[in-house]
Amino acid sequence: MGTVYLNGKFLPLEEAHVPVLDRGFIFGDGVYEVIPVYDRRPFRLHHHLERLQHSLDGIRMANPLTPDEWETLIGRIVAEAAWEDQGVYLQVTRGPAPRDHAFPKTVSPTVFVMANALTTPSAEIVAHGVAAITAVDNRWLNCDLKTTSLLANVLLRQLSVDAGCAETILLRDGFLSEGSASNIFMVKDSVVLAPPKSNLMLPGITYDVVLELATSEGLDSTVRSISDTELRAADEVWLTSSTKEITAVTSLDGKPVGNGQPGPIFKRMHTAYQVFKHQVMRGKE
Ligand code: PMP
Repeated sequence: MGTVYLNGKFLPLEEAHVPVLDRGFIFGDGVYEVIPVYDRRPFRLHHHLERLQHSLDGIRMANPLTPDEWETLIGRIVAEAAWEDQGVYLQVTRGPAPRDHAFPKTVSPTVFVMANALTTPSAEIVAHGVAAITAVDNRWLNCDLKTTSLLANVLLRQLSVDAGCAETILLRDGFLSEGSASNIFMVKDSVVLAPPKSNLMLPGITYDVVLELATSEGLDSTVRSISDTELRAADEVWLTSSTKEITAVTSLDGKPVGNGQPGPIFKRMHTAYQVFKHQVMRGKE
């Protein structure tokens, strides 16, 4: 693990420490982003920084850095990391303060940035897809904010780990919201369907890319609410995220999705995503 950034300093991970009274530790009072980096080029950085601003606004925190400062900082972390492809993790918390739910009068935010190796789906997963289960979405009503308070997501994700599955797909009041750590798409009769952005799901950066690519592939796509019944009758189901890219879900609650293999539209979209990534690597995006 290479150099990380903590509150103005670049230092080895082992030397990066935060006080135990940090509100990130005590309350999960913070927000974060994960930015994929291909060939040392951050993918859709400005979209991630805009979403970070949305999350900070949502938790009533000032952004500690300007977009240019973020870009410079992330650029340095990326340059110093060992890998060509990375997942840059950044986190901002409301900082250390005597324990009290109410915001401290003076906030000194904690800013942390690190890079990890990026692991994208294996050839096996691309060829055969993954299994998922469903669960009731029991999270709060601000799922559009990317906060570090992830306990509900952690518990929901663990349900799928316990079932030997790759993701937990969440249903709220009988409608699809998203995955525990991904957005969900489905295909019916060659139409790509996705739930609309709302307070009930994270506005995924990959979700936007996938909808754009569907349009440029000439596919029909509709953004609208998707019922539990429709999801279970889907021809194809996909999950999307910065690290999982676009992955086919081929089994849902133990039953095959479609014929139980990644579908033809997934294959087109997967190819389109790889082409798009390579354009990014060549600096064309
Ligand atoms: N929803 C949730 C709950 C997530 O945690 C994530 C990211 N891991 C996503 C959706 C996908 O967002 P993105 O495409 O920006 O990675």
